[in-house]
Amino acid sequence: MDPITAMLEKVLAEVASDGSGETAAYIPELAEADPDLLAFGLVGPRGRVFTAGDESAPFTIQSMSKPFVLALALELHGRDEVFRRVGAEPSGEPFNAISLEARTGRPANPMVNAGAIATTALIPGADVDERTGRIVGMMSKFAGRSLWIDEAVYASESATGDRNRALAHLLKSYEIIQGSVTDAVETYFRQCSVLVTVRDLAVMAATLAFGGRNPVTRDQVVSERVARDVTSIMASCGMYDFSGEWMLRVGLPAKSGVSGGVIAVAPSQFGVAAFSPRLDPHGNSVRASRIVEILSDRFGMHLLEPH
Ligand code: GLU
Repeated sequence: MDPITAMLEKVLAEVASDGSGETAAYIPELAEADPDLLAFGLVGPRGRVFTAGDESAPFTIQSMSKPFVLALALELHGRDEVFRRVGAEPSGEPFNAISLEARTGRPANPMVNAGAIATTALIPGADVDERTGRIVGMMSKFAGRSLWIDEAVYASESATGDRNRALAHLLKSYEIIQGSVTDAVETYFRQCSVLVTVRDLAVMAATLAFGGRNPVTRDQVVSERVARDVTSIMASCGMYDFSGEWMLRVGLPAKSGVSGGVIAVAPSQFGVAAFSPRLDPHGNSVRASRIVEILSDRFGMHLLEPH
């Protein structure tokens, strides 16, 4: 076994016995996920992919879609236009909070649901399918393979999505969303339902880590500036209302999702992804977060560590 895979296996073994946390309960597909699944992936600068554990287990991307849709919106519209509609400040509130700026109605940032729905609404298309096609196309370039949607998860997201619908209507009342509220929110549910593996996510994170260039396919997926903007937002807002403490402890831009995944970016060094379905009270995977924390500690990866 090569030394990097051996290191990944060792970190997995260290966290394996931690059975704390609960799987997300709001839809059956997530509630019934096998809680023991555990996987870790890392992609380096020359596009070498290292994985360990349940590396081929598929799960839905959920909120880890948010950075990639932000990347697409920035690529299409530029920074000023996007941040006119959504802020860049950590909210300190749960992901589904109804926290909009009092005067303008701007959501706090693109990593909370309100901000993500506003970002999704910026993706053009005649209907939900066309918009979703653009988004999944972009995510596929980040992953270096064609991704698709878990239709059962999408149906459940849509059936239980009234809070997100309410957020979208509020955004429309402030003219943050223009056009169809239904299209915006259904597209958002579809983007959350894209199936990935820890390997896909590690490649996607690595594409952000290497200035928007996928190190496996060598495709320049988004500009260096867009990759930097997205990574900056992940650094301040990526881990729900634990983002500040995450930066303090781990020091890597990251994004989590309720399916149990965490992606993290070590700029110019590697992209990381970890997966384990049990979540802590903030909605971050207990073991996936711990994996990234161990990696950061052991290799002195904290961005603010003097080198
Ligand atoms: N589809 C979920 C929602 O919008 C995503 C939540 C998440 O991963 O944070 O409620």
